[in-house]
Amino acid sequence: MRLDTDLKLDYADVLIRPKRSTLKSRKEVDLKRKYKFPHAKGTWTGVPLIAANMDGVATFSMMKALAKNKLMTALHKYHEVKDYKNIIPDFTFVTIGITEADEKKLEKISKIKKPRFICIDVANGYTESFVKFVKKIRKKYPDSVIMAGNVVTGEMTEELILAGADIVKVGIGPGTVCTTRIVAGVGYPQLSAVIECSDAAHGLKGLVCADGGCRTPGDVAKAFGAGADFVMMGGMFAGHDESEFPVIEEDGIKYIEHYGSSSREAMEKHNGGKAKYKASEGKRILIKYRGKVQNTVDEILGGLRSACTYVGAIRLKGLARRTTFIMVNRQLSPEIRD
Ligand code: 5GP
Repeated sequence: MRLDTDLKLDYADVLIRPKRSTLKSRKEVDLKRKYKFPHAKGTWTGVPLIAANMDGVATFSMMKALAKNKLMTALHKYHEVKDYKNIIPDFTFVTIGITEADEKKLEKISKIKKPRFICIDVANGYTESFVKFVKKIRKKYPDSVIMAGNVVTGEMTEELILAGADIVKVGIGPGTVCTTRIVAGVGYPQLSAVIECSDAAHGLKGLVCADGGCRTPGDVAKAFGAGADFVMMGGMFAGHDESEFPVIEEDGIKYIEHYGSSSREAMEKHNGGKAKYKASEGKRILIKYRGKVQNTVDEILGGLRSACTYVGAIRLKGLARRTTFIMVNRQLSPEIRD
């Protein structure tokens, strides 16, 4: 047994300190970023926010609504192959797991439309079989941008980039409907994970996507401040018309269901039930119905522009460089408690 006594932090443990700024208005802030990749060809320009590959979040209607704003969607794994003809290549990740069936599905999708962005998503990115799979997909799709995860430590971030990932997805346990920290006792405070993994990735000219744990636009700003190149959100994009889930009415209030990809609900829907040896590591919640996702996108982008203005970053690119986090006492600042 070893005990690491370094303090690790979540988004709610910090605030961004304001800095002197020459910006006159939030309107001046440019939220688009242009990225090169360590393996894939070409560059990408857009607003580096991604809807998480979850049911009720990463639908085709979400993809269309977000792409209008130059945001991305990592489509969930359960769409039919024929539907992929409709993807918007520059703003869509095709998500797969690491089974043979996943690999075959990707081959079939490629015949319809070659995916520019591939997301290889597993709950635990620390297995040897995962690294091998990333290598294999890199070989088969040398030009595609590969995002792979999830991990939370620098050494595994480096290993995945060396194996062929362009973007490493960071986050174990912080998700809105994730119960891994409770069920397995495993996880890593997300702000520290993003700081440490982005540092490791940038050393190899790789990128990271901070996945999970953003509850507010301020958390998204903190993720970029910590060094994230992309930020992925599930809960913040759930509860909208684009979820393609029915609106449920209870006591006159409208809700939309939201559940974790490893919840009992998801396993029943997609895998014919939960395998006996597995515990469910996700839960179901009801989110207040929020209408069109465009309203939420405007809120998030407005929050990011505000954060950039407060620290004097004219572009999102400059936010991390201009960020100083201050640690806060969560007991004394209940308004930012999660
Ligand atoms: P959120 O933005 O809602 O805080 O987090 C979204 C992320 O939570 C997803 O991208 C995914 O990484 C993670 N996630 C989604 N469903 C589950 C689940 O059932 N269990 C766990 N452990 N993580 C989940």
